[in-house]
Amino acid sequence: MQKLTLAIHGGAGTILKNDLTPELERLYNDGLKQALQSGYAVLEKNGTATDAVVAAVTSLENNILFNAGKGSVFTKNGEHEMDASIMEGKNLMAGAVAGVKNIKNPIQLAQKIMLHSNHVFLSGQGAFEFAQQQQLAVENEDYFYSEFRYKQWQAVKETDSYLLDHNSNETENLLKNKKFGTVGATACDAFGNLAAATSTGGMTNKQFNRIGDTPVIGGGTYANNNTCAISCTGHGELFIRAVAAYDVSCLMEYKNCSLQQAMDIVVNNKLVKIKGEGGMVGVDAKGNYAMLFNSEGMYRGVKNSDGIFEVAIYR
Ligand code: ASP
Repeated sequence: MQKLTLAIHGGAGTILKNDLTPELERLYNDGLKQALQSGYAVLEKNGTATDAVVAAVTSLENNILFNAGKGSVFTKNGEHEMDASIMEGKNLMAGAVAGVKNIKNPIQLAQKIMLHSNHVFLSGQGAFEFAQQQQLAVENEDYFYSEFRYKQWQAVKETDSYLLDHNSNETENLLKNKKFGTVGATACDAFGNLAAATSTGGMTNKQFNRIGDTPVIGGGTYANNNTCAISCTGHGELFIRAVAAYDVSCLMEYKNCSLQQAMDIVVNNKLVKIKGEGGMVGVDAKGNYAMLFNSEGMYRGVKNSDGIFEVAIYR
């Protein structure tokens, strides 16, 4: 029987045990478990990998702790601009959205673009209008407000720095305590089909209209049934330049690497060489999974039909 697997992340970076109170640690772990349960429930009912990754990412987007959807960081203009993408391994169908505001669940918009438009990639106002046609939920600015992310932005908004998601409000600490709160999921369903989905608010104090790797097919997200499904988190500019998600697939396709080997080369060698801090999760068509990062930590979790149900934060 085909193995069911769901592997997720909630961002990578300098996440040290000392930085999180036991209460916050529990909340992060609960958020990851809830997302795994939402996505895995779809797989268990013989649903598709695509619907499973959308369910898992939607759950993380609705959780204020993660930098996506509700918990998105502030741009240089004090707004929230979100990026998301999704890809199916069966037919290489993909949908992506960049720089949208007020959309409650950008991953659902990416899925609608994949399924119901003639396009792969929409941005800005055009994406917003398409979301309205598709009757997706829209929220006002207050919904996306969180005090700790507002403080992060206040600490750096007069500077040219753009920061990764983090908790402290001291600029120096912020720069040291780099965290990437992007969320993502990869799944293998009962039919051996793969899918990957990624969603983010980007980086604190980013230039308005800046686009990271998250919505870039091949950069932050990729899926192909012949190889793997991958979702990335990290310093987006470097992941775009490394074509990180697709490179894992290429190493499997052209060099016969296993998922683990291919991911290790990209995360711990190629990205490290260009100072591309972050990580990724992935599954292959046999239901194997890998979750690797070159940073101090990565919020991550996996649930599969062998009975594994684990979440982790630190190295
Ligand atoms: N990759 C995201 C970006 O660059 C950030 C993150 O992973 O948190 O927009």
